[in-house]
Amino acid sequence: MRVICIDGPAGVGKSSVARRLAEVEGLAYLDSGAMYRAVTLVALRRGVALADADALARVAADLAIHLGADGRVTVDGEDVSPELRSQRVSQAVSHVAKVPAVREVMVRHQRDFARRHLRVVAEGRDMGTVVFPDAELKIYLDADPAERVRRRLGEARPAEEGGEGPESEETLKDRDRIDSTRPVAPLRPAPDAWRLDTTHLTLDEVVARVRARVRSGT
Ligand code: C5P
Repeated sequence: MRVICIDGPAGVGKSSVARRLAEVEGLAYLDSGAMYRAVTLVALRRGVALADADALARVAADLAIHLGADGRVTVDGEDVSPELRSQRVSQAVSHVAKVPAVREVMVRHQRDFARRHLRVVAEGRDMGTVVFPDAELKIYLDADPAERVRRRLGEARPAEEGGEGPESEETLKDRDRIDSTRPVAPLRPAPDAWRLDTTHLTLDEVVARVRARVRSGT
């Protein structure tokens, strides 16, 4: 099994880097955030209270989540990918992801994914620290908060294309706060992670540095 982990805070550009790396290195793309978003979407649809950890855990355990190697997510056979980036999901997801029993189920799915695909780039918050401690390479991307907000703004699709507008600065900062202070699997670099500050780098430059690191085999 060959696993490359990319962790880091919201808006840093992990997904863009992971997708590009998957393409050029011939790896399957494991978007672990999409899994947490899928559980959150279903919990919201069912009207589950975000404070009800037991009910959230039941939602996670009951769902048949399937993550395609292309990043598309189906839940009980329905392709939910278009809804995963909505503002209501972004606002709620960190509350769902901090529930330990939800994480247990997701970690199992993530390891299954890697066993099925064998060559994987895994992106998230705890890929290197918890899910794949023996990964071949662990990368931790960071960038100044103002730059991450700016990048997120650049990702929003215009309303005429069905986009909702960008995730607000407040939601992004709330997510980072909750993700990095939760007791289980908080966002933080693995001790053996290679850290890259991307604040002043373009996406192409980040991808080039990551590829160089992958090729150097460390
Ligand atoms: O990566 P993305 O922004 O889509 O992740 C959405 C949320 O899912 C994060 O803010 C975090 O709460 C949760 N998450 C997590 N662990 C991961 C990936 C995502 O807790 N490995």
